[in-house]
Amino acid sequence: MADRKLQVIPLGGLGEFGMNCLALRYGDDIIVIDAGMMFPEEELLGVDVVIPDFTYLEENRAHVRALLLTNGHEDHIGAVAFLLGELDIPIYGTEFTLALVGRRLEEHDLKERAKLNVVRPGDRLEIGPFQVEFIHVTHSIVSATALVITTPLGTVIHTGDFKVDPTPTDNDLFDLHTLAECGKRGVLLLLSDSTNVDRPGYTESERAVRPRLEDILNRADKRVVVACFSSSVHRLQQLIDLAQEFERKVCFLGRSMVTVTEIAHSMGLLTVPDRILLRPQDISSVPRNKVMVVISGTQGEPMSALSRVAVDNHKNLSVESGDTVVLSSRIIPGNEKAIYRMINHLSRRGAEVIYGAMNPPVHVSGHASAEELKLVLNLVRPKYFLPVHGEYRQLAKHAKLAEHLRYAGLEETFVLETGQTLELDARGARKGQRVTVGRVCIDSGTLDEVVEDLVIRDRRHLSEDGFVLPIIAINKHTGKSEGLPEIVSRGFVSAGDDSQFLIEARTVVARTLESSSAEERTDWGVMKEKIRTDLRRFLTKQTSRRPLIIPVILEI
Ligand SMILES: [Zn+2]
Repeated sequence: MADRKLQVIPLGGLGEFGMNCLALRYGDDIIVIDAGMMFPEEELLGVDVVIPDFTYLEENRAHVRALLLTNGHEDHIGAVAFLLGELDIPIYGTEFTLALVGRRLEEHDLKERAKLNVVRPGDRLEIGPFQVEFIHVTHSIVSATALVITTPLGTVIHTGDFKVDPTPTDNDLFDLHTLAECGKRGVLLLLSDSTNVDRPGYTESERAVRPRLEDILNRADKRVVVACFSSSVHRLQQLIDLAQEFERKVCFLGRSMVTVTEIAHSMGLLTVPDRILLRPQDISSVPRNKVMVVISGTQGEPMSALSRVAVDNHKNLSVESGDTVVLSSRIIPGNEKAIYRMINHLSRRGAEVIYGAMNPPVHVSGHASAEELKLVLNLVRPKYFLPVHGEYRQLAKHAKLAEHLRYAGLEETFVLETGQTLELDARGARKGQRVTVGRVCIDSGTLDEVVEDLVIRDRRHLSEDGFVLPIIAINKHTGKSEGLPEIVSRGFVSAGDDSQFLIEARTVVARTLESSSAEERTDWGVMKEKIRTDLRRFLTKQTSRRPLIIPVILEI
């Protein structure tokens, strides 16, 4: 057994942002850490989410023993349903993480047969040759964990996502003791979060947002609308506490906001005072200065609650002059255009929109800055170091950050990209063979608001159902469409085949345009999403096929 090797197999999240997934293999046993998704870049029109290619796991399905989840963020759990569709393996994670997973599994009708096992920090599991301990870390989501994995060759520590918050709002401290104890006993390999390696110093505590929010509420004499990630339970708790202090009722808007707060509340992770909650339909019956709306849609996602409020197309909430809108979130690179467009709309309605970096902040990061990363490196003092979670530049910088550990037992740092494995055995560590990896694009409808059947849109599917391009020419001056929209399709129906049907499809697009408000029509992101949704509904009904739909809007 002594010549057995440990393989570290990154399937996503190394050299790219998001879709974290990594396998550990010892002999015939494989455990998988996280199965996340990534949000598609602009160029991937018509695609909703991107997940890792699980070919390696499928080819080795007989050996895959378990999936371990470090936290409930989408870049860690967003692909679980797709992995579970292929492999029937038990899943381990904290209660909150698994509740978020369960919600996604329900959408895929996989909840019934999923083997979800709740783990508490400190619990130890035996999985084949691996002994796994979950330890508590602080992060922007509650119930986040790192993993201490004992293998026959030594201890492997995977930090998951973390920051070292010295004053977490729930007073649940980062378990630095266990990390330090592991470091004392000797750690073979450390895998650590590189997301914020570019930031010097320390990331502010979650509590740092309170002074600014307090100041905003002090000044506000109309409605206050705060957008944040629904999974940021610490942030939500601070908002609820402030609302109570300022005698405002709280209304949660957006599907994910409502379900996640319910889950957190049911688990005792979110304290909600009696009678503070307001139903969406009652917003308008409460004086404007007595309401705080907590809403989803920080990234300008076209069909999110806040985007719809911005174009005055939300049935329960409208923003008026004098209202305050706070984006208590970061701008994820790539989403700038959509977010600024949304802010433009809100500003036009007369709202004061508060967003971006400022001091004191309205948002703090959930990831460790350089000094915190060094703290963890120094406590763990690994023999080998593998930076994870980040683009290549971040992994490389994180590797540099560990240089000083050369004098404290560090033998080598590996900067690897997804697909490049690492091999460890009694003789040392080295790069191993490459495995098949890639990105799988998924077109699932608008997950947050309209839940439709989820379909994997891989190449095979594309070749079966083809694609459809509705082309809309919009007059720049009038904002009106010029003539009936055109439809170009390949591999779906041939034009001569069923021309009546294509004319109907063109009418569907025209109707979507007509039924939209002038303001919506100026927002291409919103229009493309609406056209895609309506046209898909029509095509699926008529043909029961699901071509890839990519609306093209031309300004003439
Ligand atoms: Zn995270």
